[in-house]
Amino acid sequence: MMFPVRCFSCGTVVSEVYEEYHERLSNGEKPDDILDDLQITKYCCRRMFASHRLQNNKDLFDDVMEYK
Ligand SMILES: [Zn+2]
Repeated sequence: MMFPVRCFSCGTVVSEVYEEYHERLSNGEKPDDILDDLQITKYCCRRMFASHRLQNNKDLFDDVMEYK
């Protein structure tokens, strides 16, 4: 599944920072530090990144969709 453009809960655009997030994650930075730095402060938005990390388990992300 593609990374969603907006947060399911609050509608904040999150896709524009995903590429940088993913790149920095690959460089070994901690997800919390990256999200703080990118000013993704709301938990509903941070959830979008945290759940998308589990790319090997696509079913989990689809399950989350049911609870929006
Ligand atoms: Zn949000």
